[in-house]
Formats: sequence, structure tokens, C-alpha cells
Amino acid sequence: MRINATNKAKTENKKNRYRGIVLRQLSREILSEFYARKFTFEPLFTVITPRMFANREFGFLIENNGEDKFTRNLSFKTPSELKKYMITNGVKAAYIGAIYQPPPSPGRSITKLKWLGRELVFDIDLTDYDDVRTCGKGKDHVCPKCWPFVVDAALMIEEILRDDFGLSKITWVFSGRRGYHAWVSDEIAKYFDEETREAIATYISPDNPEELVPISYQKKIIRLLLRKDLTMLVKQNKKLFKKTWRELLKRLPRIDKKVTMDTVRLLRVPGSVHPATGKIAIIVKDPQTFYPDDAPTIWEALGID
Ligand SMILES: [Zn+2]
Repeated sequence: MRINATNKAKTENKKNRYRGIVLRQLSREILSEFYARKFTFEPLFTVITPRMFANREFGFLIENNGEDKFTRNLSFKTPSELKKYMITNGVKAAYIGAIYQPPPSPGRSITKLKWLGRELVFDIDLTDYDDVRTCGKGKDHVCPKCWPFVVDAALMIEEILRDDFGLSKITWVFSGRRGYHAWVSDEIAKYFDEETREAIATYISPDNPEELVPISYQKKIIRLLLRKDLTMLVKQNKKLFKKTWRELLKRLPRIDKKVTMDTVRLLRVPGSVHPATGKIAIIVKDPQTFYPDDAPTIWEALGID
């Protein structure tokens, strides 16, 4: 029966999407159409200020005659110029980097320019939890059983940034596949050097969590990850406490430190399309309740799903 066949196809579609597999061809035409009709700058201008826009570096993945080419060192005088470029080239992926003087230009490495700043960013990806997620559906999968690792990491990171570093302009963006990008847009954070960014990253995600971490951090682990307070926990017997503690340590935020430290690194443009899943890297208002299926795909956004 036709209806059954359609339903079966839909179920298959869902299953595959679950695994983060693109089912349809992400053609230049469809990407151009998306950037012409559906892309807005609102998500981007939530994480960056329009000031110095012309001095920002952008990079793109562009398919040409079946081959993907990565290009960076680009800048645009206005947002509409950037949009025009994305439409004309049907860009497969769009990335944004730091602010430079003079503005980046093709053929001139950014290392030759004066670096003027860049937001503090964090990258959380489920694959960093491969040794502790036991849902066993392969490296690339996302499922409701393991997604809470990412959710807990976001909770810890947000609180540490606010409480321990006094940062407040924090925006969560769906990475488009298996995690979140956190953008910290406080003015002061834009000028943090590599060492400061590394120190913050290491504080959030300790290299050896078994070794003593600050008591304030320990309290956070218990309150946020166990949803209990410390006094309740110490009332339990010692053996159980140790076991619980070991389990909790596995759930500490795991971030890609290189992404945080690297001040010239490019990161996906919020609101753009992830080329492997076709999903849109949307801003997530509440990282505690969001699930990757909540993000629309480019086909859904265009109404052709
Ligand atoms: Zn899973």
C-alpha cells in the first residue's frame, strides 16, 4: 500500500536522521535558495556586535564540480555583501573568525594582520564522551540516553562562567550535529589572550579531575550533576560516596580545548547549515530542554520536507 510505503520511508528517514546522516543531496541550488529565502542575520548578531563587521574574517566550504574547497581570509563590507556571497556560491558551510586590522583579504594570511579580538567560545561534542556513553549505537550517533552528557556540560559551563568568571553574555548555539557551541560575548572576553582562554578551559574541564579540584567546583558538581547538596551526600556511607563521586567525574564538561584557546579559529556561523546533517545551527534558548531533533533541516525550513 502506498500509504504504508510512505510511512515506512518516513520511519527510515527518522532513523537515519537519528544517526546524523544526510539523505538528500545538499546541492548548491538548494543552499542558495536557503540563504536567499530563509537565512537571517539575527542569530549571528546575537553572538557578535555589528561593530567592526567589515573587519571580521569569514571562511566557507564551497562545492565546485563535485569537489569541496575550503576558503578563508575573506571579509565583507556589509552583511548584505556577505549574504550575496553565500547565495551566489551556494556555500556548503559558513564560518566566522576574529576581527583584524586591516580587514582580511584573499591571498593575504591573517597572521600578517593585527588581531583585534574575538569572542570566547566553547565546543561540546558528544563524541568526546565515547568512553562513557554505553548506548552503543556507534560513534556518530545521538540518542536521548547520551544527549544528557552535553546538557550537563552546558549547565556546568554556564554556571562556572557566571559565578567564577563573572561573564554573563552567554549564548548557546546548536552545533548542527552532536553538540553545542557556547559564545561568550562580554566585551572583556573578546580580548582574552590564548593563555587566559586556556586557563578558563582547563578550570572548566580539568585535565586530571581525580586530583583535587577547588571546593567550590566540587560543590557545583554535586549540586548540578547530582541535583543534591553536599551535606546530603556525606550522610551516605563512604563507599557509596566514592562510587558516586567517580561516576560524577565522568560527567564533567568535556570541551575541545583547542577551539577555546585558538583565537583565530573559525566557528560555524549561527543560523547557517551543517553540511553533514542539513540541520540549521540555531540559537538554543534553553540548552537544558533542547534536543537535536528540535533543529529544523534546510529542507524543512524551505518547506520541501
Ligand atoms: Zn546514545
